[in-house]
Amino acid sequence: MHEKTIVNPWPRVLPPEPATSQKLALGPIVPMLRAAEVASLEGRHAAVGAFNINFYSQAEGILEGLRRAEAPGILQASRGANKFQGGPEKIAKMAAEAIKDSKHPLPVCLHLDHGDDATAIECLGAGFGSVMIDVSKLDYDANISAVREIVNLAHPRGISVEAELGELSGVEEDIKAEKSTYADPRKVAGFFEKSGADALAIAYGTSHGPSKGAGVGKLAIRIVDESYREMGANGLNFEHFLVSHGSSTVPQKLVDEINSFGGQIKSAQGIPMEKIEAAIKAGIRKVNIDTDLRLAITATFRRYFAENPGIERGSPNLAGIKKVLDEKPATIDPRDCLGHIDKELMRSSPRGSDIEEIMGLVKARVASHVEYLCRAFGCAGLAEKTEGHSLEEMAASYSRQ
Ligand SMILES: [Zn+2]
Repeated sequence: MHEKTIVNPWPRVLPPEPATSQKLALGPIVPMLRAAEVASLEGRHAAVGAFNINFYSQAEGILEGLRRAEAPGILQASRGANKFQGGPEKIAKMAAEAIKDSKHPLPVCLHLDHGDDATAIECLGAGFGSVMIDVSKLDYDANISAVREIVNLAHPRGISVEAELGELSGVEEDIKAEKSTYADPRKVAGFFEKSGADALAIAYGTSHGPSKGAGVGKLAIRIVDESYREMGANGLNFEHFLVSHGSSTVPQKLVDEINSFGGQIKSAQGIPMEKIEAAIKAGIRKVNIDTDLRLAITATFRRYFAENPGIERGSPNLAGIKKVLDEKPATIDPRDCLGHIDKELMRSSPRGSDIEEIMGLVKARVASHVEYLCRAFGCAGLAEKTEGHSLEEMAASYSRQ
């Protein structure tokens, strides 16, 4: 499939050597997705994992999982996460601190997930290496021009832009779509060329949230395959990438664990891993994971209180988490449980606080799931193949296009 000579047409850039911290922390998304593309052409199909973050220990766990898999990775913040933490600068500071504290040695990008244009513009100056502008509700031409406006502001800073074509069903933060609309593969190459976007989320039947039931039967991997071939025919594949949203596998084990400790999650169904692997084989290079981590964190919380009865006594932070778990058996959103805790604590290491122990367990659980996913996505070991990982190098590359 897709046999051709492997030539990396990306120009070699030799900028002044950036400081190590600058080079490694919070760089752009394109070099890591390109490393996945090159690996795929060599027959080792790969996509980079993009994991949603809301609080420090979640970010720390993701970084630990990436380190174990030696994978490049994307920390992404939705508009809900931005609201939870008080804006893009706070999120960027939290991510940078997690990277610094853990001395994370591998390429990481901070990405805005499902932004509107105002949030995307805010992120450009806040330390994000990539932004998504989701105006997929607009018609094709209006979508293109809205994306183009952000691209014109982002690329001179070396920041890449993700757009969305077609509509996914499910609930994404405050956006709710009943029906999904598949992306039209014949429009993908034109969309990239006219909008200047670097990455494109294409709707092919996945959906947001833990109940992907209806969509799973309608997964259309051929949409990915046809889009990728169309891009290849137009010489786009090294600089432009397809993204799969709503791709959590929703492990039944986690759902059962949550329900056995007082949760009530009904009709949970994820995308089977073999379908995600097929989509990666067909050309997906970035896979978004949010629900799986929410489940892992919720399971950790519920097990902790079940195994340590009364531990919340005398601890307002723990008591607040437990209260929400008791009152809202169906919640899988950790922000529900953590909303009452001081935001400064949520953005920094919990060491020495009353949530140190529970957050340590969250970190460990998130790390092992992220490691597992990176291996399944084929991006384990790709960190060392990620070249040119700095915003300065990306800005220089864009200016020559
Ligand atoms: Zn999404």
